[in-house]
Amino acid sequence: MRRFTGPSGRGATGSPQKADHRNETEQRKGGIRMRRQNRWQRIGLLCLLLFLLPVQAGAAAWDGSWFYHEEKAVPFGREGQIADWHPYDHRKRPPLSPDSHVVWLSVQLPDDAPDRNVLMFLTTNQAVRVWLDRTMIYTWGEFRPTRFDQGTVFHRVALPGDFAGKQLKIELYAAKNRQLGIVHLLSLDTPSRQVQRIFLYDLPVILALPAAAAMILLMLLCQYFYSGRWNRLYSFVIGFLLVFSCWLVSAAKVRSLFFDHPVFWWYMLSILAYLLPLSANLMLSELLKDKPYARMKLVTGVNALLFLLAAAGELLGLHSMNDLMDVFYPLLAAGETAAMYWCWRAARQGNRLCRAVMVPLATFTLLGLLDGMAGHFRLFTWHTFLTPLAIYAFLYFVIAILREKLRREHRLAVHNAGLEREAARALQRAETDVLTGCWNRSVLNRLLASSITEAVQSGGHGFAVLLLDIDHFKRVNDQFGHVAGDRVLAAFAQMVRSSMGPGCSCIRWGGEEFMILMDMEEREAVVRQAQLLRRKTESADLGGHRITCSIGVAFWHGRQDTPDALFKRVDTALYRAKQEGRNRVVLAGED
Ligand code: GH3
Ligand code: MG
Ligand code: MG
Repeated sequence: MRRFTGPSGRGATGSPQKADHRNETEQRKGGIRMRRQNRWQRIGLLCLLLFLLPVQAGAAAWDGSWFYHEEKAVPFGREGQIADWHPYDHRKRPPLSPDSHVVWLSVQLPDDAPDRNVLMFLTTNQAVRVWLDRTMIYTWGEFRPTRFDQGTVFHRVALPGDFAGKQLKIELYAAKNRQLGIVHLLSLDTPSRQVQRIFLYDLPVILALPAAAAMILLMLLCQYFYSGRWNRLYSFVIGFLLVFSCWLVSAAKVRSLFFDHPVFWWYMLSILAYLLPLSANLMLSELLKDKPYARMKLVTGVNALLFLLAAAGELLGLHSMNDLMDVFYPLLAAGETAAMYWCWRAARQGNRLCRAVMVPLATFTLLGLLDGMAGHFRLFTWHTFLTPLAIYAFLYFVIAILREKLRREHRLAVHNAGLEREAARALQRAETDVLTGCWNRSVLNRLLASSITEAVQSGGHGFAVLLLDIDHFKRVNDQFGHVAGDRVLAAFAQMVRSSMGPGCSCIRWGGEEFMILMDMEEREAVVRQAQLLRRKTESADLGGHRITCSIGVAFWHGRQDTPDALFKRVDTALYRAKQEGRNRVVLAGED
């Protein structure tokens, strides 16, 4: 039951402010939902419109009763003697007997629109003559068996000025009966509208080509920037898209306006029709290559075999490219259904690309079959290729490849960053003394080398070395134990490190001895620092004990100096500090 709401739209329960807020939120949500729905409706409508445009364009035939007359051989100029005309529905093929090779289609032209003077229609593998009453006004193709198929031709016939109300007769010849009498896209219109109409028929193709080009570009970029394990997949996708693009060009009708060679286009279309599933299946083979249950080699092999048979037969003049289409479509259905099943199995195991490829695969196969059946059984009164629309489904697949690639790259980057962090930590562990947190001696050479390099580069700026030794440390160990000794050592090191400036490094030289590299060359400043350290040690409570330390100080003498000489000088200074009574700082002699 609906709750009563007052004129303000507020609910009868709850505080007015709350109810207002709730309503606002609901309205907002509803608004977003509505907008989303509207958007999808609009997109759907646009798609429908794009789809219907070619259909609309085909609906420009005129009303009139159509008749046909069939013959087994090819008489010439007998038009006037035909007596037995049979009525038929012009949207379908006339009911011809299987051994006919010539058919006449006849209708009266309208007399109310003299400016609609261009007749247009499409035939496949038929020779054509157009008659107006008893005058032949157009002829195309050869009225005899030819070595190769005659191809798909869009006939544009300009009618003479006095065509209104006359009897139009289209005489068709086909060496092979299967296409005889089939006339597609018949229309009568003004010259400019007829050209428009050709472009409209091609709209699916014209819209699909940029999409295919964009996808090829994307895959090329992927191949360039992310060369590696997926390179073969990119190549197969590019191969398929190239075949698809060429097929689109061959299927377009505008092509005849630029390059009017029907036989060439017909064979291009036929060959590419065979290559389309072949290249698609090669792409699927790459996707399913490590799935033992997927028998893609078999499917691709059958595709290739059929293509070779068709091509060989065609070269022998058997017109097998077209005839074998009867085998091609069932094989397409069977092969792609099997591939779909294998992709589905792989998708269930978590293969995202196999899941994504099912969308274009299903679309492509269904539309391809529909096109084939439409051509074969004349399912629709209009004629257009639906297969180009499948390109948008492939867009989905290409985007899925990119998304998966980026996802993997991201995972790899995160993994690498973790490894780098781990390596840095391991290195630090290897170079740090566990007890005191100072550098250990393995780092000394590196630190010393960098201090020397810096000193050389900065043009004479030297550095100082301090050697610290805790006085009578053995006594701490002896009196309070090793653990207490460790505590004192750690506290001492901590105190030293916290007292050092930014340009200093502290190394555990060994036992209770520490070395400090100090990035300073003024003697007074260095000695002042050393004295400060000594006094701090003396006055601080380090791990619960009071200790003192002796410090030797030496300076780097520039290019003529060596690390060994430096260590010897600082060691001697420390020794002298011990000798002179400990708890003091001694500067090494300059010799
Ligand atoms: P001085 O330097 O004033 O001559 O006397 P000292 O007692 O410090 O002399 P010495 O250098 O001979 O003794 C150093 C002692 O430091 C010996 C060893 O027991 C102790 N020691 C060295 N390393 C450690 C350590 O890691 N932990 C502890 N607890 N003691 C250590
Ligand atoms: Mg010592
Ligand atoms: Mg000592």
